[in-house]
Amino acid sequence: MSDFEKNKEKVSELLDRFSKTGVLNHINGESVPAISGDTFENISPIDLKVVCKVARSNSRDVNTAVDAANKAFFEWASLPGQERKKILHCIADGIEKRSEEIALIEAVDTGQSLRFMSKAALRGAANFRFFADQAPSGKDGESTFTNSQTNITMRYPIGPVGIITPWNTPFMLSTWKIAPALAAGCTVVHKPAEFSPLTAKILIEIAEEAGLPNGVWNTINGYGEEAGKFLTEHPDIKAVSFVGESATGSMIMRQGAETLKRVHFELGGKNAVVVFEDADLERAADAVVFMIYSLNGERCTSSSRLLIEDSVKEKFVQMVLKKAERIKVGHPLDPNTTVGPLIHPIHEEKVKEYLEIGIKEGATLLTGGSVDGPGGGPYVAPTIFTDVTREMRIAREEIFGPVLVVIPFQSDKEALEIANETEYGLAGYLWTNDVTRAFQFSQSMEAGMIWVNSENVRHLPTPFGGVKSSGIGRDGGDWSFDFYMETKNISFATTEHKIPKLGG
Ligand code: NAD
Repeated sequence: MSDFEKNKEKVSELLDRFSKTGVLNHINGESVPAISGDTFENISPIDLKVVCKVARSNSRDVNTAVDAANKAFFEWASLPGQERKKILHCIADGIEKRSEEIALIEAVDTGQSLRFMSKAALRGAANFRFFADQAPSGKDGESTFTNSQTNITMRYPIGPVGIITPWNTPFMLSTWKIAPALAAGCTVVHKPAEFSPLTAKILIEIAEEAGLPNGVWNTINGYGEEAGKFLTEHPDIKAVSFVGESATGSMIMRQGAETLKRVHFELGGKNAVVVFEDADLERAADAVVFMIYSLNGERCTSSSRLLIEDSVKEKFVQMVLKKAERIKVGHPLDPNTTVGPLIHPIHEEKVKEYLEIGIKEGATLLTGGSVDGPGGGPYVAPTIFTDVTREMRIAREEIFGPVLVVIPFQSDKEALEIANETEYGLAGYLWTNDVTRAFQFSQSMEAGMIWVNSENVRHLPTPFGGVKSSGIGRDGGDWSFDFYMETKNISFATTEHKIPKLGG
């Protein structure tokens, strides 16, 4: 039997449990249906068939979950950081043990190919390990001294937090947000995306098997405008960490305004990869292709805009085209597949609409577009638009699919103007062998993260996040703790200093 056939067999066994029980909420250590008994259907993007039913939570479920997180908070927050560290490492062990299962389920739930989901599952474990090691020093602050006062700054966990995640790499992103919250001493109510609820359930099971006390982490399923909205409005939720679309971020800000919610947003992107004529073009082409076609292009940091110096445009586009056309589009469980089906017909509609918009705007569809794939799901082949001008919508708006737009430039000044003229500012990529140019350009490029002569290579101690409509706040390193913790300054008088006497 081929590996592909073996994967399919394993997946059908693994999905059996979900088709029998559905995806239940997980509150205070227990799997529970929505209080109303309501459910919605979860379909697989491969064949659009129903995989299972999912609990559809309303405000009563949210209240129960927040209540559990609230009750568990004091004890979890008071636990020494060393103890939290041990538990989080055990969670990482559990993820590693079940990484194959997680990757297989994630692939059929999202349409992302197994080759990337295997790595994403392991990255989930790495996220837990990284933040586990930070837990003991989370409270640390600094001391500052004057002649009469000693100031001690410390941090403490902010309280129960709401974490809302999207569907593109749901498992990895959930670990990326939840691990630092737990390490900081916060308790969590997590709402996974309605299009991809499966691995969030496995993740919380792993956490509790690893010794996480009941109620510290709760998962509620449901629609964004119901469960998600109630979570962001709940007065006992002290902060909301959200990954998703910029427009949803605005909504969450409004929803949380009444209760003065602290928010952390990782939002959309329309990231420029700028290739200068002096670059190593072969390496640049590999990086461009990797960053736009891996994860089906459903990747916030994708290099969706190729800004290419006019003098090398023809040559470089041909290099990218050749690679793009060799990419295998197919079933996500086939080990040879790179691009699988898009997450859902609703998202397919959006991507297809942009393909039409691009053609109407006068761009040339060099390759790609919708294709038939196994199972009949929403497949889009690696797509390239040339003859794109900077004012076109396909040059400015996030498509979130395997669609690359190519925009030529004549000078550094023009490249910088084009790179910066979008509402987004998540990531940027530069390819040049001129160090002065790289230094100057990267300082003026409006993006939270810039990689020079590299694709996106994550180093967990570095800050991750965007500017403009791409986000608010940073994750990674100690930055995550600044969000999940409050900072307090305590000032001790060290002398009998003179106190102003008013009234006698
Ligand atoms: P989305 O905004 O539609 O949904 C994300 C989550 O928000 C889901 O769980 C959804 O149920 C919930 N939600 C929707 N409306 C809500 C509301 N009113 N209140 C509370 N919650 C609500 O995003 P998506 O389509 O799932 O994901 C794709 C988007 O995510 C893209 O724009 C992509 O760029 C972005 N993204 C950003 C990053 C990053 O790190 N910057 C990473 C991954 C994805």
